[in-house]
Amino acid sequence: MKLVNPSNKRKYKILVVGTGLAGASAAASLGELGYNVESFCYQDSPRRAHSIAAQGGINAAKNYPNDGDSIMRLYYDTIKGGDFRSREADVWRLAQVSNGIIDQCVAQGVPFARDYAGYLDNRSFGGAQVSRTFYARGQTGQQLLLGAYSALSRQIKLKTVKMFPRTEMLDLVLIDGEAKGITIRDLVTGEIRVHVGDAVLLCTGGYANVFNLSTNARGCSATAIWKAYRKGAFFANPCFTQIHPTCIPQAGDYQSKLTLMSESLRNDGRIWVPKNKGDKRAPDEIPEADRDYYLERKYPSFGNLAPRDISSRAAKEACDDGRGVGPGGRGVFLDFRDSIKRLGEDVIRERYGNLFEMYERITGENAYKMPMRIYPASHYAMGGLWVDYNLMSNIPGLFVLGEANFSVHGANRLGASALMQGLADGYFVIPYTVAPYLASTKPGKAKEDDAECKKSIEDVKAHVKKLLSINGKVTPAEFMRKLGNVTWNNIGMARSKESLTEALAKIPEIREEFWENLKVSGTELEVNQQLENAGRTIDFIEFAELLCRDALDRDESCGAHFRVEHQLPDGEAKRNDENFSYVAAWGFKGDGVPPELHKEPLEFNLIKPAVRSYK
Ligand SMILES: Cc1cc2nc3c(=O)[nH]c(=O)nc-3n(C[C@H](O)[C@H](O)[C@H](O)COP(=O)(O)OP(=O)(O)OC[C@H]3O[C@@H](n4cnc5c(N)ncnc54)[C@H](O)[C@@H]3O)c2cc1C
Repeated sequence: MKLVNPSNKRKYKILVVGTGLAGASAAASLGELGYNVESFCYQDSPRRAHSIAAQGGINAAKNYPNDGDSIMRLYYDTIKGGDFRSREADVWRLAQVSNGIIDQCVAQGVPFARDYAGYLDNRSFGGAQVSRTFYARGQTGQQLLLGAYSALSRQIKLKTVKMFPRTEMLDLVLIDGEAKGITIRDLVTGEIRVHVGDAVLLCTGGYANVFNLSTNARGCSATAIWKAYRKGAFFANPCFTQIHPTCIPQAGDYQSKLTLMSESLRNDGRIWVPKNKGDKRAPDEIPEADRDYYLERKYPSFGNLAPRDISSRAAKEACDDGRGVGPGGRGVFLDFRDSIKRLGEDVIRERYGNLFEMYERITGENAYKMPMRIYPASHYAMGGLWVDYNLMSNIPGLFVLGEANFSVHGANRLGASALMQGLADGYFVIPYTVAPYLASTKPGKAKEDDAECKKSIEDVKAHVKKLLSINGKVTPAEFMRKLGNVTWNNIGMARSKESLTEALAKIPEIREEFWENLKVSGTELEVNQQLENAGRTIDFIEFAELLCRDALDRDESCGAHFRVEHQLPDGEAKRNDENFSYVAAWGFKGDGVPPELHKEPLEFNLIKPAVRSYK
C-alpha cells in the first residue's frame, strides 16, 4: 500500500462528515497523523452524535474471562450472525483490530466496568457463547464518544481539525469523477456553501428511521448517503435492516421514537409470555407452569441470548398468536425475578441501574418488582454505501465509515458489534487506507470556484426553495409517519412478494403527494427545523423505494431479511446460497429510471456457509 510522506500530509485536506464514533475517531486519528481535517455535524456539538445513545457494550476478542474466545471465534460468530452475507476479509480484519480498540479507549480513560480484582469486566451479548462485551453500565456509547471527542478536541486545539457544528451536508461534489467537496447548509444562518478537499469521508450513521418509531434519534437520516448515491455511489444491501427485540412498546399514535432497553439485560432477564391465549392475570399471579419462556424452549443453546432477528420474530410470533401482554397485546415480559433472587437487587442495580431508571421514568413501572414489557422496534441499518476493503466507495476519494457503510454485518448485526465497527473504521482502518488514494492524487486539485461547485450550490438552493414554495397542508412529520407506517407494515419484520409490491405502489404516491401538498413554515435564512425535516423526509421517501426494490429482488430469507415465502419447516429463515450469495450494490441511473443492480459474489475461505442454528 502506498503511503503519504509525513511532511506531505499537511498539504492534503480531508472532509469528515459526522462526529459519531466513526467520524470523531477518524477525524482525530487523521489530524494526529498530520492531515488537515474539516469535521462536520448537524448537532450543536460533536458530542451529541447519535453514538452517545449506545447502551450495552462493545465487543473484543480479548478472552479476559478465559472462556474460549479468540479472533477466530469473533470472526466466526460475526459471519454466522450475519447469516453468511458479509464480506469475509472485512470481518476478519474487524476481529483482528477489536482488541486494539479496548487498549486505545482504556488509554483515553474510558471508565469500563471492572471486576473485584480491577480487571476489565465482560458480559454476553446475543449470538455468542462467550463473554466478550466490554461495558460502562448502560452508557457505553456515551463513555466511548467522550473518549473520541476528547481526542478530537485535542486536534481542534492543535488546529489540525477545524470543526463545523450545526452544518448539514446536502450534496456531494465530484470533480472529474472524484469526490472533492460537499455542499452544506449552515443550520443557524441558512447559508449554503461548498467545502472542497482532497477526499471526503462519510460517517453519517444509519437509516433505521425509514421505519416509523425506531430507537434512533429523530435527526438520524439517510440524507448524506442518499445524496452520494444520487451522485453515483453504489448503495449496498439496503433491505438488510435490523429490528431490535427489546424496546419499550409504543404507547400512543403521536410518539416520535421508541426507547431501547439494551440487549445486555438479556444476560439476567428471562423473556416469557403466558402459555395460554388471552391470559390477563398480573405477571406475579401467573405460576411457573403457565409461563412460556419461548426463547429458552426454542433455542436451548443460546436461550435468551439468541440473536436479534430470531428473538424479534419469536416475539412477534407469540403476540400474533394472541399471547402478547400489555396494551393491545403487543409486548412480552423481560423478567428479572430469578436473577434478583439469585444475585440480589444490588447486583442488578449495579449492572443495569440506569436502564431500570429510564424504564421507570417512561412507563411508571418498577422493573425490580415486576417484569419489564418489551416489543421489537426498528434499530439499525446493516446496509449502506458499498465500500471496498479500503472503505472507499466506487467513487474515487469517497470513503464511508461506521453504520453508513455496508461492510461487516451481513444480513444481521450481532449486539455490541456496531461500536466495535465504528471505532475500528475510524481509529485503525482509515488512517492506513486513505493513504493509497491520496498518494495517487495531487493535493489542492479542487477549488471552490470550480463549475461543479457552483452548480452544486445552485442545485441545493433550488431544492431548498422548492421545499418552501409548495405551501400545502401536510407537515414533514406527517409525511414521515405515513411513509414509516408503510415501511413498518410492508417491509418490517416479515416481508412477502405481495407486501413489497403493495409498498412499491404506495411509496411513489406518498412522493407525489409530498411535492404537491408539503407545508414548511418559515424561511431558509433562519433556524428552520421543519425545513431540515422536509429535506430528510423526501430523501427517506426516495430511499424507501430502493429498500423495497432490494427486498423484492432478494427472493430468499437471510438474517433479518425474512421473506415469508422462504422458511424452513421450523419457521427459521431459509437462505438460498446458490442464487443469492452476493452483495447487492445498486447504482442510480436517474429519476424515474430503474436503478442498476451490480453483484459482488461472496467467498468464504475460512468456514463454509451452513444453516444458521442457535438451537
Ligand atoms: C439506542 C441505541 C443503543 C445502541 N447500543 C449499542 C451498543 O450497546 N453497542 C453497539 O455496538 N451498538 C449500539 N448501537 C448502535 C450504535 O450506537 C450505532 O450503530 C453507532 O453508534 C453509529 O455510529 P456512527 O459513528 O456510524 O454514526 P452516528 O453516531 O449516528 O453519527 C452520525 C454523525 O453524522 C452526522 N451527520 C449525519 N448526517 C449528516 C449530514 N447530512 N450532514 C452533516 N452531518 C451529518 C451527525 O451529526 C453525527 O455526527 C445502539 C444504537 C441505538 C440507537
